[in-house]
Amino acid sequence: MTQILEPARAIDVIVETDVLVVGSGPGGLAAALAAARAGVKTVLVERYGCLGGNITQVGVEGFAWYRHEKTVDSEGIGPEFETRARAMGAAMPEPQSLSHALDAEMFKHVADVMAQEAAVQVMLHRLCVAPILEGGALKGVIVESKAGREAILARRVIDATGDADIAFRSGAPTHKSPKEDMMAASVMFSMSGVNKQRFIDHVKADPQTYRDWSGNGEWDIETSGKEDDMFSPFLRKPFKQALDAGILPPNLATIAGTWGAVSDQGDLTYLNLIALPGCDGTDPDDLTAAEIEGRRQAIYAIEALKRFLPGCETAKLRNFGMTLGVRDTRKIEAAYNLTADDVRGEGRFEDSIGIFPEFIDGYGLLILPTTGRYFHVPYRSLLPTGVENLLVAGRSIGGDRTSHAAVRNMMCCAVSGQGAGVAAAVSVKTGRGFAEIDLAAVQAELVRQGARIH
Ligand SMILES: Cc1cc2nc3c(=O)[nH]c(=O)nc-3n(C[C@H](O)[C@H](O)[C@H](O)COP(=O)(O)OP(=O)(O)OC[C@H]3O[C@@H](n4cnc5c(N)ncnc54)[C@H](O)[C@@H]3O)c2cc1C
Repeated sequence: MTQILEPARAIDVIVETDVLVVGSGPGGLAAALAAARAGVKTVLVERYGCLGGNITQVGVEGFAWYRHEKTVDSEGIGPEFETRARAMGAAMPEPQSLSHALDAEMFKHVADVMAQEAAVQVMLHRLCVAPILEGGALKGVIVESKAGREAILARRVIDATGDADIAFRSGAPTHKSPKEDMMAASVMFSMSGVNKQRFIDHVKADPQTYRDWSGNGEWDIETSGKEDDMFSPFLRKPFKQALDAGILPPNLATIAGTWGAVSDQGDLTYLNLIALPGCDGTDPDDLTAAEIEGRRQAIYAIEALKRFLPGCETAKLRNFGMTLGVRDTRKIEAAYNLTADDVRGEGRFEDSIGIFPEFIDGYGLLILPTTGRYFHVPYRSLLPTGVENLLVAGRSIGGDRTSHAAVRNMMCCAVSGQGAGVAAAVSVKTGRGFAEIDLAAVQAELVRQGARIH
């Protein structure tokens, strides 16, 4: 490939802070709130125009759809997202669980308010493009925006980009699954103009279960058996009818999936129906192709729903997610990498920064936490190797495939985020690096902030 040499240039330092969080999804937003609430100056940088990551940018609303009567759930900032959203009219009952689905649009405002209350300095529309390193220590990042290139200096950095961008560019070891084994990307969308009563009557008359997921590629799942007869807001029949009627081309037999919530005003939201395998979310050419192909498929899906799903006859597209939904990219090699045994076998760790129920969803495996079993999330799984002053929060923490099918869930991302935020604040205050952190102080602050660590 032809290359050019980019000339070196002086860059303005626009902010200096104690803690810098890059990325504002459930991981980064929780990290920034936790660090600020622990009393240090905190900056939250985000590439798009709103906070919330996949929640607000992709439209992933099912924050705690796994919660059942016996679930022992995480505590702290994660559940606070849900309760705060409810209090601000930004959540609706979720159809299959004891939880509320977040309203992706309204949650943009909820996140603004929560950040303002905690005195987090929010900097939107800035993409972090490079680390500032001195030896093996991270000193800040370079951002790119309409203002050009700018530098932000920080005593501690939290990488909550979902893709471990900062860790990767700092030279910390990361890995990705081969493209063909990655979880599929999805174009998410919502519809308006749905006749709620007719829709719900139909769902009740023909309830779908997790057993109905099997037999269709992307939606083939292995369960522990106890999930099979549980209700699932699953949709395949309308697409099967559309295939038979020639409305869907045969190569779109992949269209199937779940609906999220239906409002009194006729919004049918969080339609997770389009699976786009073979897309590496760190490759912009793959992202481009998947965005375009996903929207094309969604238009077919809407036509099928209008024809064959009662209540949707006069519905229309309300919106696509602001961006493609990416589930699976880089993971760090952490000081401790979580294992399948940890998340399936109630792993217990002295350096726990939070708990998460035995909820596994990904790579063809679905275990719902109907039992009360839960695991500890260890601090060391947030700690990358080979670079100082950096923690990672959210879906790219260290672990194997099965553990990632657990920790990628938004509630668990909020757990790792809150842990990272508190650890960064404690590290700044005590002057001790991340590898020598005062764990007792971290755990005490987490408990003070309402997290459950054991
Ligand atoms: C289609 C789909 C459906 C899903 N369904 C569910 C579900 O029902 N329930 C569930 O719990 N989970 C679900 N997930 C998984 C969940 O949404 C993610 O794993 C989770 O949001 C990851 O959180 P995060 O904070 O690590 O990253 P993200 O939510 O991806 O947030 C990362 C943030 O960082 C920003 N960013 C990235 N790079 C940079 C950069 N270089 N500079 C500045 N900003 C940057 C992004 O814009 C974004 O705001 C789903 C995922 C997808 C894609």
